[in-house]
Amino acid sequence: MTRKRVLSGMRPTGRLHMGHLFGALDNWRQLQEQYDCFFFIADWHALTTDYADPSQIRAFTVEVVLDWLAAGLDPQQATFFVQSRLPEHAELHLLFSMFTPLAWLERVPTYKEQREQITDKDLGTYGFLGYPLLQAADILIYKAHYVPVGVDQVPHVELTREVARRFNFLYRAVLVEPEALLTEFPKIPGTDGRKMSKSYDNAIFLSDTPEQVIAKLKPMITDPARKRRSDPGNPEICPVYDLHKVFTPQAEREGAIVPGCTSAGIGCLDCKQVLLKHALPVLTPISERRAELARHPERVHAILDDGTARARRVASETLAEAKEAMGI
Ligand code: SF4
Repeated sequence: MTRKRVLSGMRPTGRLHMGHLFGALDNWRQLQEQYDCFFFIADWHALTTDYADPSQIRAFTVEVVLDWLAAGLDPQQATFFVQSRLPEHAELHLLFSMFTPLAWLERVPTYKEQREQITDKDLGTYGFLGYPLLQAADILIYKAHYVPVGVDQVPHVELTREVARRFNFLYRAVLVEPEALLTEFPKIPGTDGRKMSKSYDNAIFLSDTPEQVIAKLKPMITDPARKRRSDPGNPEICPVYDLHKVFTPQAEREGAIVPGCTSAGIGCLDCKQVLLKHALPVLTPISERRAELARHPERVHAILDDGTARARRVASETLAEAKEAMGI
């Protein structure tokens, strides 16, 4: 029986951190067991925001794939490829642009939000407005059945479905309408309590050694009410406790951390020690695996060559069907 197909991608804008691990890679690792997964490096998407300085995109492409491999993604089970090596995506995107109303793109919520939030770059570009349509081409060219997304990305999948419907209605039923595979992600705060992000300088990277993880977690921000060791705290507003929810077994969290914190029975340093006891056995093998893999970047290139060839077989077939249906 042929497996249903899943497609997902990441922009090569930096090394991956714990937020990516629990926000995507853990999920992808499970999906690759059940589905025919296509995971791609979205380097054209990186250009939509980083067009003024693309100098790092190639280097980060390798870094991101190293992180994928270290986190347990398996190129034997899934297909890894680089978007820009498949001009078929660009051609389908161009064809879609002929019949996609501008209003569909202007109403994508992330378009408005990001234009407001990202103030250090001029995003008033054609590429930035069109990137959800490029995403639609990325997905539809593989006839993906599912796209794993967080709730904020659902409008993008909805746009993709609308594009597929419009194409199939105007020409012929060639494209598959994908479904959003809604995934709930745990909250992963950075060491300063804000969302973990490379740009906030608060991230714990998958490449960090145990010493680096310890050095970052020890000074991590806690409940600000605990100024002194004798002050009781509230785990529910403490970013360290958010990380406990990911690493520390529930029984220990509820039996020791919560009562210890709320009664000031334990100090924050003790609490972080418990976190490290559970986090390091998860993070250390990843960073060790990554360090070993990084010694052989040629393997990453071979994996991407192989995956890109596999992807091309599917992409070129769909593009040919789409062109045939459009009569060009
Ligand atoms: S004891 Fe733990 S949960 Fe409580 S405030 Fe300190 S670090 Fe946070």
